[in-house]
Amino acid sequence: LHNQVQELKGNIRVYCRVRPPLETDEADRAHIALPDQDEDAKEIDVLGPEEKNSLGRNTTKNHAFSFDRVFSPTAQNGEIFDELSQLVQSALDGYNVCIFCYGQTGSGKTHTMSSSDGMIPRAVTQIYDTSRTLRERGWEYSIEGSFVEIYNENVNDLLGSTEDFDKKKHEIRHDPVRLRTTITDVQTVKLDTPSRVQQVLTRALSNRSVAATMANARSSRSHSVFIMKLSGSNSITGEKCEGTLNLVDLAGSERLGHSGATGDRLKETQNINKSLSCLGDVISALNQGKEGSHVPYRNSKLTYLLQYSLGGNSKTLMFVMISPLQGHLSETLTSLKFATKVNNT
Ligand code: ADP
Ligand code: MG
Repeated sequence: LHNQVQELKGNIRVYCRVRPPLETDEADRAHIALPDQDEDAKEIDVLGPEEKNSLGRNTTKNHAFSFDRVFSPTAQNGEIFDELSQLVQSALDGYNVCIFCYGQTGSGKTHTMSSSDGMIPRAVTQIYDTSRTLRERGWEYSIEGSFVEIYNENVNDLLGSTEDFDKKKHEIRHDPVRLRTTITDVQTVKLDTPSRVQQVLTRALSNRSVAATMANARSSRSHSVFIMKLSGSNSITGEKCEGTLNLVDLAGSERLGHSGATGDRLKETQNINKSLSCLGDVISALNQGKEGSHVPYRNSKLTYLLQYSLGGNSKTLMFVMISPLQGHLSETLTSLKFATKVNNT
């Protein structure tokens, strides 16, 4: 039933998650007025900034958005993963699945995706556990993981040595027959025990934070992609299947003032803007049913890497993450508009 519902509405879904206010948030930065969300909320209303109307009075405009799900600030990662588990599972059935977190820096992308309680460890654990139960029905799976970042349109291996970052060249290679993508010289790790899984995550996250000190706030300025390749074969029926699960923590979507930025900072910003808008273009082209030559995969490293996991036999979920703070209102509206554009069919 789950797959049927999804087929009906295309293979792209968008969820919105609002992070709670934090103790470290300054008290005077008022929170955005959000209505109480019910359990299955699909709508979110955001009160825009104060503007003068034609009579010179201050007014605020209500902006209403609707998505496949809206999670309130009280939602926990466990609850959110419950909504993803079917999608994650479909990678074992041979689908190529992409899950993205999009939003400005500080909106909760890493908390949702790559923290020790986030979607990556939960997804890996679920895939591992399910592959074990499928053994009873004759399925044997090989599960491999790699973890890369894309920084300034270069691929770095988050499981490799940080000394190679930005130096070693990793090429993205497509095999159009098997519809498989590989990255040259990138470590892949067999995820064959839960402790192995834990090791991989710990290493990648610590490399990511080492890398973050190499360039200013680098982890917010790069995309990280956790890639799981699943190959199954059934000794009873002779069936085979290959699926991929990509979990992507995107670079911060905030617009940095072009005027101040020069040199490396400007280049970084341009690369991020280009790859995020390219991702939006690719997803919305696919959502409009344009397959093949109309889809601009090649316009960024990220979409090129994920080409086979975005079109065709694939399922995509985008989380748009938003901050509850009044001071972030304009970025919040920009993010919600981006997500709406991506979602439009
Ligand atoms: P991003 O990766 O988008 O820059 P983070 O995930 O690092 O944002 O979140 C910014 C801060 O907010 C972090 O301290 C994080 O722990 C906290 N945070 C984000 N989302 C939540 C949440 N749902 N519940 C509690 N704390 C959160
Ligand atoms: Mg982050």
